[in-house]
Amino acid sequence: MYDKNNVFYKILQSEIPAKKIYEDELVLSFYDINPACRVHAIVIPKKSYVDFHNFVKTATSDEVGHFFAAVAKVADMLEISNSGYRIVSNVGEDSGQEVPHFHVHILGGEKLQPHSTKILRP
Ligand code: AMP
Repeated sequence: MYDKNNVFYKILQSEIPAKKIYEDELVLSFYDINPACRVHAIVIPKKSYVDFHNFVKTATSDEVGHFFAAVAKVADMLEISNSGYRIVSNVGEDSGQEVPHFHVHILGGEKLQPHSTKILRP
């Protein structure tokens, strides 16, 4: 169940400012407020989806295709396509997803640590 009380929904409603990178009728991209590396962008669909799983299961194939084409377009705009980048999308509690509006992180602009698949144990 989508909960409108999340920061990305508020950015879409212009209730909270964001440093926009790209926008079209279905997609918005902006810089992450707490960058994990030199270039850290967020890409979100304008429609309300909780996470990647919910998006892919319920959006049309055109929407899904358009979204991921926009992710690649943003990487081009940020000039990190040639040097390389990582995309990450956290899904649900075990992933540590903080904002329950589907989003992809684009990370790049410098050499990244190898992607960790380690589990978190107290
Ligand atoms: P996740 O843990 O995958 O849900 O990631 C949420 C991301 O949203 C984090 O990297 C935050 O730094 C980022 N974030 C939270 N609030 C804002 C905001 N107002 N503008 C831009 N990014 C934000």
